Amino acid sequence: MSADKEPGSPESDSSPEAARAGHFVEQFVQDDLSAGKFGGRVQTRFPPEPNGYLHIGHAKSICLNFGIAATFGGICNLRFDDTNPTKEEAEYVRSIEEDVRWLDVGWQGDALYASDYFEQLYQWAVQLIQSGDAFVCDLTFDQIREYRGTLTAPGKESPFRDRTVEDNLDLFARMRQGEFPDGSRTLRAKVDMMASNLNLRDPVMYRILHASHHRTNDDWCIYPMYDFTHGQSDSIEKVTHSICTLEFEDHRPLYDWYLEKLKIDHPRQIEFARLNLTHTVMSKRKLLQLVEEDHVSGWDDPRMPTLSGLRRRGYTPESIRRFCELIGVAKFNGMIDIVQLENCVREHLNQCAPRVLGVLDPLKVVIENYPESKREELQAINNPEDPDAGQRTLPFGREIYIERSDFLEDPPKKFFRLAPGREVRLRYAYFITCRDVVRDPKTDEVVELRCTYDPETLGGKAPDGRKVKGTIHWVSTTDALPVEVRIYDHLFSVENPSDVPDGCDWLDHLNPESLNVLPDVWVEPSLANAQPGEIYQFERNGYFCVDPDSRPGRLVFNRTVTLRDRWAKIEKRQTAGK
Ligand code: ATP
Ligand code: MG
Repeated sequence: MSADKEPGSPESDSSPEAARAGHFVEQFVQDDLSAGKFGGRVQTRFPPEPNGYLHIGHAKSICLNFGIAATFGGICNLRFDDTNPTKEEAEYVRSIEEDVRWLDVGWQGDALYASDYFEQLYQWAVQLIQSGDAFVCDLTFDQIREYRGTLTAPGKESPFRDRTVEDNLDLFARMRQGEFPDGSRTLRAKVDMMASNLNLRDPVMYRILHASHHRTNDDWCIYPMYDFTHGQSDSIEKVTHSICTLEFEDHRPLYDWYLEKLKIDHPRQIEFARLNLTHTVMSKRKLLQLVEEDHVSGWDDPRMPTLSGLRRRGYTPESIRRFCELIGVAKFNGMIDIVQLENCVREHLNQCAPRVLGVLDPLKVVIENYPESKREELQAINNPEDPDAGQRTLPFGREIYIERSDFLEDPPKKFFRLAPGREVRLRYAYFITCRDVVRDPKTDEVVELRCTYDPETLGGKAPDGRKVKGTIHWVSTTDALPVEVRIYDHLFSVENPSDVPDGCDWLDHLNPESLNVLPDVWVEPSLANAQPGEIYQFERNGYFCVDPDSRPGRLVFNRTVTLRDRWAKIEKRQTAGK
């Protein structure tokens, strides 16, 4: 659906004018600066909850928050919103820090934690009890929900709402001491049970939870709710602009209420639209389910939209930052075509990935007039887009592999590759002509081509001026390295897997073809010492990243993307055919 977004919609507007004008969040910040607010300072934060790995949607938030800080000469912190000990883990903290560092957006490497403010938050809760703005409530969570009412029905006040300040102080202190079991009491803000905004109907501030926290261990058995934590954490850190996604718009009145009641520094909350991408899911709950139920190999499976998955797939930080810049920042939710992300990595890798020759589906070629004992080292250019990338040598001999799809026995006229009697150019080597075909006697499948070469054609030209149209890649059979290649397709076969009809499950849309392992791939020997994380262009076949599963003598590659956007090509053909 997003491929045909209306021109000029903020999500699609990537014109230089739009970039200069700045998006609406930048304009708000600029307005505040012009009005002399916040003493001319700008400070933002990226506040993940450490309950999962970061995904490409988080990257949008990271780029936005760090980008605003950079644009206005301010600072941006990474703050963990770690108020829920039952779902949070140190592993997630570690991975989030790694991912933010990897994105290279200017993070200084000193994470902050909401859990560091637990004592201050407790004192502020006491302050609200003292001012008559909070009370200890003995209703269960279910009862609280019942009393809360709905969008059309007003709420009902808790029978515990009018406890005295003394009783509330005493009970809250005893909640902290661990006297009461989980769920038996809460501390609630006394706002307004008639408020049209449900978030203002006496929201819970603290709950009892006898659970170990990944940083504070067993120091606490009451934990503050997100809404009571977030704004005050912003305030403590002197954040000026608290940028969050649209679903927090309805929480803003409560965010403001706490800060006003507490009479502390008051950052400005600004909401923007979440990033949604086609053919994937972005909710951490769903991503966790994919991992836990083994639909993928882990959080960093190269099919996942997580930053660790994208990194393993071969995405570069530059390509992800570029994507976040291109899609812009909007005030309404939309869906971005994953092709846009793929194009960004393609564009960047085209500039920086060294090129090599690799054959994904080999067909053996014997060059009959090439002496059996002869060996040559041919010169090859590492990256025509980058003059500094230099050259390497490619060993050439009598037997080579070419791509099976580069040969057709009975080709159409416009097939410019190899066929019986036809001549083709071998990249960086000679012209060869196909003379004969060897078949498997049982299956009749073509298993070998017998060719001849023209020794005068090294360097890609024939002295007699005859032309060949096609150039194909190859590797020398005696020198090439056998490797494993993993080819990926979309994780979900439909554009929006979260949009499922009743009775269907989002997991039903998992694409059974999302991983295809190619067992018989051969690459040129210059890759012998390739290291995990390195990315290469296999000429004509796409970009490939060395996987950490690689072992000495057995490299494993993940295909990042194809060289061209094959969907665009297919669509173009279909449109042309109409
Ligand atoms: P989930 O609801 O799936 O658990 P979350 O939004 O609660 O995800 P957080 O760890 O709280 O995850 O997110 C940290 C920050 O990243 C928040 O400010 C959030 O608004 C932002 N963020 C999360 N998902 C997206 C997204 N898809 N696009 C843009 N920003 C996002
Ligand atoms: Mg959240």
